[in-house]
Amino acid sequence: MDTPIEVLRRIFGYDSFRPGQQEIIEHLVAGGDALVLMPTGGGKSLCYQIPALVRPGTGVVVSPLIALMQDQVDALTALGVRAGFLNSTQDFGERQAVEAAFLAGELDLLYLAPERLRVEATLRLLAKGEISLFAIDEAHCVSQWGHDFRPDYLTLSGLHERWPGVPRIALTATATPATHAEISSRLGLDQARHFVAGFDRPNIHYRVTAKSEPKRQLLEFLRSEHPGDAGIVYCLSRSSVEKIAAFLADNGIPAVPYHAGLDAATRAAHQARFLREDGLVVVATIAFGMGIDKPDVRFVAHLDLPKSVEGYYQETGRAGRDRLPATAWMAYGLQDVVQHRRLALEGDEAHRRRQVLHLDAMLALCETVGCRRVMLLDYFGQKDSAPCGNCDTCQSPPESWDGTVPAQKLLSTVWRLDRERRQRFGVGHIVDILLGKKTAKVLQHGHDSLTVFGVGGELGNADWHGVARQLLAQGLLAVEPDHGTLVLTDTSGDVLGGRREVRLRRDAPRPARTRASGTSNGAGARPVVELPEEAVPLFERLRAWRAATAKEQGVPAYVIFHDATLREIATLSPSSLAELGKVNGVGENKLAKYGEQVLETIAS
Ligand code: ADP
Ligand code: ZN
Repeated sequence: MDTPIEVLRRIFGYDSFRPGQQEIIEHLVAGGDALVLMPTGGGKSLCYQIPALVRPGTGVVVSPLIALMQDQVDALTALGVRAGFLNSTQDFGERQAVEAAFLAGELDLLYLAPERLRVEATLRLLAKGEISLFAIDEAHCVSQWGHDFRPDYLTLSGLHERWPGVPRIALTATATPATHAEISSRLGLDQARHFVAGFDRPNIHYRVTAKSEPKRQLLEFLRSEHPGDAGIVYCLSRSSVEKIAAFLADNGIPAVPYHAGLDAATRAAHQARFLREDGLVVVATIAFGMGIDKPDVRFVAHLDLPKSVEGYYQETGRAGRDRLPATAWMAYGLQDVVQHRRLALEGDEAHRRRQVLHLDAMLALCETVGCRRVMLLDYFGQKDSAPCGNCDTCQSPPESWDGTVPAQKLLSTVWRLDRERRQRFGVGHIVDILLGKKTAKVLQHGHDSLTVFGVGGELGNADWHGVARQLLAQGLLAVEPDHGTLVLTDTSGDVLGGRREVRLRRDAPRPARTRASGTSNGAGARPVVELPEEAVPLFERLRAWRAATAKEQGVPAYVIFHDATLREIATLSPSSLAELGKVNGVGENKLAKYGEQVLETIAS
């Protein structure tokens, strides 16, 4: 029987384990249970795939991501691993073939949707075969605090009673300390060993820009920093998804929409294109992306504020799984705060309280003058990290300033309009009053006679919007639910009464940044495979070969080889199968299958 490290080298073609992997794998091989918290791209899959190959029997993987099972199985098959799946997309014949293979002991890994395990027939089938382990992927789906709750996950606690001797491993990339505890108790893993890896994604550059003209800003970001790259643009509503996708396409950027309002076939087709083609942009609601393990997503852009830091971290975490530089970019402005403050007022009391906590954490992240990564890691329970050098606030630290007087001016304007609160006076109107603009609306309501009229000449229009946004973010100003009018809060009085100082962040102009492709950026970043100038033509030839091969076989390009592997091949330009076999990501099976073709491509 092979040892874990032999399996890693021979089957997967990697020479060493990543941090945490070896311990987890050995613990499982020895029959222990594990709960694994590891960031996206940390290499969770190997933590159950290798034990499943080392232990006798089939590893049963529970995953909610039905749409991706085919790709996962294809990727394993390309490595020479015997894998199959059972889910509702198959017809009877297909299912029967997989079941027969399982019963004959011919599967190393079997992927199942969680709802399958509620079906008695599935449980009976599993009882007739030999199981090496249960892996519960996306384990945060069992948590009700989170945003991906799936009731079927609650039934997974029963696995242990039915198969007490079979080790279980639960894995997730998003867990605050509270979610971690919830996963542990709901899945009955309190006795299991818990492995908590660092949550940092050092290759992701985080940036939050002040939103002014979102479409133009997005286009400029894509053109200047990610031309030809694959990425995801998240929007809140279906209609903005459609509009932005059309806008990008009109501007020569290949883009497709994805949201729950599209029919299933269109969604599946767009997802498949994203996985298979190079350089496609998907514009999507949060309906898109869970479990998408496309390694070369180079950017994730948010045009609207995510509802929680968990959501933000999970969505941005889809960028740069291959550990090459990637960008998490967000445009964020006053309207986001107004809209989310209003949304957070919906639902029952408990729901509202949760929404507000989530939103406050998200707003604090947007408004911080400190390192964004430090704040993110702190949120996920990793305290006291050092500033990263690879986020916007590290690279051009925003100034903070004493905004007490402007805050008082703005709040007292709101207070003076309070008597007329049935009217819809938005931020624009309040700023007009402060700036002394005699607009039709100002004159109509006689607001030019207010004592605050024209007292705000020290700041410009955009600055005043920034003040309002930050007061809302800090809870010193609120949105009234019915009309969306700004109103004072319990704490506004402290500011008006001079008992509380208000620190504000000066919105930095966009930092000039050149494309960080292939360079190690920032203190904490891991070195990446650099691509020397002279290797670029060969890299492009290899990419073209890969695209053609992937198309021929109907699999995503990365199933053939990852970008990082192609970069290394292009740089080393190996001239024999033995040399090629040493490249990271070239295992036994792929060497046999593609070795000759790769050498030919190099020689041509
Ligand atoms: P996760 O599920 O944690 O997001 P994956 O299991 O998809 O991450 O792994 C991310 C990438 O890292 C994959 O492309 C995988 O092949 C690669 N990888 C995992 N472990 C290793 C290793 N020990 N050496 C090199 N690459 C690895
Ligand atoms: Zn930083």
